[in-house]
Formats: sequence, structure tokens, C-alpha cells
Amino acid sequence: MQKCNSQLPLLIVTAAIIGVGIAPAQQTNRPWMDSHLSPGDRSELVLKQLTLDEKLALVHGNGMSGESQWRMPLTPLTNGGAGYTQGVERLGIPPLIISDAGYGVRASGANGRYSTAMPSNLGAASSWDPESACQFGEVIGGELRAQGFDVTLGGGVNLTREPRNGRTFEYAGEDPLLAGTLVGNMMKCEQGQHVIGDIKHYAVNDQETGRFVVNSVISKRAMQESDLLAFHIAISIANPGAVMCSYNRINGDFGCENSYTLQDVLKKDWGFKGFVISDWGGTHSTEKASSAGLDQEQPMADYFGLKLKEAVDAGRVPLSEIDDHARRVLYAEFLAGIVDDPPHKGVVNVEKGLEVAQRIEEKSIVLLKNNQAVLPIIPSKVHSIAIIGGHADVGMISGGGSAQVDPPGGNAIMPPGKGATHWQDHIWFPTSPLQALRAKLPNTKIDFDPGTDLQSAASLAKTADVAIVFAYQWESEGMDLPNLSLPDNQDALIEQVAAVNPRTIVVLETGTAVTMPWLDKVAGVVEVWYAGSAGHKALANIILGDVNPSGKLAMTFPKREADLPRPSIAPLPPNDEGQGHYAVNSETRVSSYAVHYDEGSEVGYKWYEAQHKQPLFPFGFGLSYTSYAYSGLSVDSSAKTVRFTVKNMGKKTGTEIAEVYATLPKEADESFKRLVGWKRVTLAPGESQDVTVAIDPQELQTFDESKDTWMLTNGEYGILVGPSSESTPLRASLRIH
Ligand code: BGC
Repeated sequence: MQKCNSQLPLLIVTAAIIGVGIAPAQQTNRPWMDSHLSPGDRSELVLKQLTLDEKLALVHGNGMSGESQWRMPLTPLTNGGAGYTQGVERLGIPPLIISDAGYGVRASGANGRYSTAMPSNLGAASSWDPESACQFGEVIGGELRAQGFDVTLGGGVNLTREPRNGRTFEYAGEDPLLAGTLVGNMMKCEQGQHVIGDIKHYAVNDQETGRFVVNSVISKRAMQESDLLAFHIAISIANPGAVMCSYNRINGDFGCENSYTLQDVLKKDWGFKGFVISDWGGTHSTEKASSAGLDQEQPMADYFGLKLKEAVDAGRVPLSEIDDHARRVLYAEFLAGIVDDPPHKGVVNVEKGLEVAQRIEEKSIVLLKNNQAVLPIIPSKVHSIAIIGGHADVGMISGGGSAQVDPPGGNAIMPPGKGATHWQDHIWFPTSPLQALRAKLPNTKIDFDPGTDLQSAASLAKTADVAIVFAYQWESEGMDLPNLSLPDNQDALIEQVAAVNPRTIVVLETGTAVTMPWLDKVAGVVEVWYAGSAGHKALANIILGDVNPSGKLAMTFPKREADLPRPSIAPLPPNDEGQGHYAVNSETRVSSYAVHYDEGSEVGYKWYEAQHKQPLFPFGFGLSYTSYAYSGLSVDSSAKTVRFTVKNMGKKTGTEIAEVYATLPKEADESFKRLVGWKRVTLAPGESQDVTVAIDPQELQTFDESKDTWMLTNGEYGILVGPSSESTPLRASLRIH
């Protein structure tokens, strides 16, 4: 006893230093508070203490703030967020306080708080930079905690199989390796801030039309080699506490009661130890969902509340299943560190967020066209600039839905008389490119025309040395785009301006690809995506050449919709369910609405290559203010590494993303190349660097449906290296026996 007392101060100090927020006396009573034990051991120790009711409380939500149809007695505890799950206070297990956080923490404005909007996820993916992805996650994780949340609902990694999908901006593009690597690094670092990480929407949730009922029909091989592979890579890197199952059906069964995707693949094959959380309102059954591997219903308790208890009492759901669900939730809490370090409300580090958002956007902007070096603008040569359209005088647009981040002070172009924001409002951040350019070019005449009257826009453009047209395309969860054209007569605006000013540059603020009927008539095109809280400054740095563009497309830009695997998205049959925001009563009726992904694993650039179609801009494409030369490819077949040299041939320092693709031996029956690695290389003018890229054998495998396993085919693999999926000047082969 004496000994114990004499050690007490030391233990308290030690606990404080290592951040263990628990007194030693409690450690004796609460052995799970020993942070040296593994999350698995700690969750097991807690589980043994729990009553059935305490276990059941861990497996459902308690409503969602702001949504009137989703209120429960504990809903006020959501902290203004998306959901709340009770912890076990008597044992020191904190509640789950859940927020959406796709590209920043959602609803902060509505809650009187502040969040940084990072560039949209698709935008940030154009950096091809895992380190930037990590910083992206770190900022969001820190801001979630500062706002009192301990679970994030970010982490979207659905592949861009359907570019009209209204959530394309929330995901990381069309390639499983690129998307999985970036989202994985983002979520790893977000969870590193002690919030439970999440990867979503599992799986094949690739369009919004009919999302509550649509049946995604796809072969196992194709699913494994495309959509599931992206998830697998992201989950392996991030080791997230949670995976969100999706609304849609996959080969018949809903994402949240699909034993193939949840039980067989996620939990058994991949060894995922965290919990499966349903998308909001995506739970449709009790027994079926529980046995298929759903661990937690959100945001309500319709199926995993009283009904689950009754099913356990009646022996229809074994206790072992409840234990597994509860254990997984506890595991995630220990894994993410929220038991040792629960969130404490604090102050968001605004400056840090803005700095990181700007640097990431600078790496994410993609220069698509630059004829006669119209960019960068050289102040001594350009005396007047016409800025046209896109509300560039006040701000830049952002992506809507549950990922929406509230701008400080509200919408920069809020229509008069409109107060609170709706989840599908078109929101402009107060990030004015006009102001950012004026600040950097005090001696240049810079005028603005809103672009609503084509004649007036053309008159201004005519008088200026350079015209910059800002064009936008808004998208959101809960809808798909009817096509990939710029809305609001913007194509005509660009045509008019380009007709009078040969030095016309188009800046695109879009969430996905757009078609460009005017492409041949303009001198420059810059894709800035949804550019986030500091997008205007990043863009100004690119336009003036203070930053050399380095971003490359994470998705193909098609020439026309007819070139896509499906020329249009089939509408829901009349009177079908799923028209509303959330599904109701889906159990009682099975919709016939389905999308057949017959293109299989030919997603994005793989489709265009296999179908011999020429895209407008290929996957992996992006220009720079310098140019690079590739040479000297060699392949080490046993080490599975490739080496080559990249040289900066121009007069500016720049960062090149060097891409490595592979083609498979004939026997593998695959008619396209796959991305198998890349490297970002920063080079001074004239500098060259030897680059080594290691290929993970998983990237060379195919999925054998008959054996239900991955196979590495013996034979000769083509290795192709270059600046984009369409330009691979270096070729060699790799042998596998
Ligand atoms: C979305 C999820 C989101 C959830 C909570 C759903 O409508 O599909 O991505 O996390 O709502 O807001």
C-alpha cells in the first residue's frame, strides 16, 4: 500500500506526459486503461464488463441534428453533428460524436463554428501526393476535435465509374491505386488526430440516381479489380476504425446487409477489425443485416434498437453477434485513441488550415492547355486583364450535400432574403480571384464583367490584353448531372469571349469533367476544381507563375457523353421508391431499378484504351511551365522495381509526376494498361534525377472468380513509363515465372 502511494505522483506525471488521461487508481480498477495493451485486448476487457443493454447501446445511433424526421431523446447530444452513439460512462468509454467531414467539417457555420474547406477530394487527388493527403487529413482531424467530435464521416473512395455522379468531387478519381493510396493516407493522418476514421461508401455506390434502391450489378472479378480494390488499398493504409456501408444494392443485397462484401471480403479476406456503420438510413433489416456484418445502425435505432433486443431474446440473433458488433465499436475507440484522449472543444487553428489548403490547391490545379505560353502572365507584358463570369468578383464555388463546408460569414452570393443554408444550396466561398489577382498585380488594369450579358462580356474582353473566363459546374450528393456540359450558357460565353480575344484563358471550377466545345478557340485552360478556403490565392500564384503547375488529372475528361460506358444515366421508373432524400420502407418493396456495370473493371482510362476511344484529356495528364524528358528505363524483374531518368528541359523549377503503367500477359485477358506506381520529382532547370518505383505485386494480379482468389499470371508484363496514361515513351518488360 505504502509502495503504491509513494509511486503515485510519478505515475500521475508519467500518465500526463504520455497523454493517458486516467488516474492510476482507475488503471487498477480498469485494466483496459493500460495503453500498452493492444486495442484488441483492451476492447475484450471492456466487453467482459458490459451488460446486454450497454452492448446494444453501442450498435445504434440516437438521431441526427437538424433533420426533423430523425430525432430521438438523445439527439441534442450530437453536438450539431450527424450522429451520436452512447458510450459507457461508468467504464470510461466515451460516446461517439459524429460529424461529416468530406473536405472539411460540415455544418460549422450553422453551429457557430469555423472550419477550413480543403480543396475538393478529387481536386486534391490531382496532386498524386500522399503527403498532401496526410496534411489534408490532419487539418480536418484537428478541426473535428476542436469542435468536439470524435468520429469523422470523410473518406470517400468510390471510383469515378460514372463521371456524372453528383458526388464525384467527394472521391479521388477513377484509378484504384491512386484513389486508395490518397484516401488511405488522408484517413490515416485524420485518425492520427484521435478521431475514429471512416472509409465510405462501401461499395459500388457510383451514382446518386436511385441511390437508395439501385442494384449495382457487376461481376465479382470486376468488382474486386476496381471498386473493391480501391477500398482495400485505402483500408490497408488507413486502418480506419469504421467503414460505412452504402445505400445501394450490390448484386441484389443492400450494401448494409450484403454478406459477400461485408463478411466475406471486408472482415474475412481483408481482416478489418473495426466496425461497419450504416449510411444514414441505409439499414433495412435486423437479423439479416446483423448476420451479414453490419455493426452499427445510423442515425436511428429502427432495426438495431428494440428490434435487435427482441431478436436476441428470442434467439434469432446469437449473443456472439452482438458481442462482435460491440467489440468492434470498442476496438475502434481504442484504436483511434479517443478513450485515452477524448475530444476537448478548443479553437480551430485558422491560419494553419488556410496555409495547408492553399499549398494543397497549388499542387492540385491542373493546367490543361497553354498555347503560346499564354500562362504565366508576365506583368511587364500584360497591362490589362478582363475577368469574366463565375462570380469571380466575390468568390469561388464549392460542392454540396453532406460534404458541404460552411464558408465564414455565409454564402458569398446568398440570394437576398435567404437565411439558413440548405444542404443543396450553391455555395460560393468568399475567395475572390479578382481580388487575389488585383492584390498581386497592383499596376495592371483588371476589370470584371459578370458574364451574364454576352455582348458586354465580349466588349470588355476585346479591350484587354488577356481575358480570363471563370466557369463553374456545381454538383452535390443526392443528384447526378444530366450531362457534362457547363451549365448557365457558359459555353456560349466562352465562345463569345474567345472570338474577340485570342488570349482567352478558361478557369474551370468543377467537381468532375466537363466537355469543352470551345477548346480549340481558347489559348489556355486551367482546372482548379472546388478550390477550398484559399483557392483564390493558390490560383493567383499559378496564374502569375509563382507556383509552377504540377497537378495531373485523377479522372479522364471525355470528349462527349456518348463515349462513356453508358451514354446517359437511366432514370428511375415512375413511382419507384428512392425519389426522396432518404429511403423509407424499402423492405416491403424491391425496386427493379438496376445499373449493369458491364464495362467491368474497364473504369476510366482503361475503358477508353480498351474501346479505342480518344478522350479530350487523358487520365494522368497535366502541363507545366517547363517540360520534362524521360529516358533510360530498366526493370528488375525479381525485385519488381523500375528505374528511369527524368530531366527538366525548361527554364523553371517544377515537379513532374512520373507515371508507371503495366500491361498483363495475354493469358490474363486484359486489354488495357493499369497504373502500378508513380513518383513526384522536383527538378531545377536542366536537372535530371534517377527515379526508382517499386511495384507491389498486388497491382499485377487478377481476380480468379472460380477459385475466389487473386492470381499472379506467369509471363511477360509490359512496363510503360511517361507523363500520362496516353503518353508513355519508355517501354520495357518484366518477367514473372
Ligand atoms: C451520406 C453520407 C453521410 C451521411 C450523414 C448520407 O446521406 O450518403 O455520406 O455521411 O448522410 O450525413
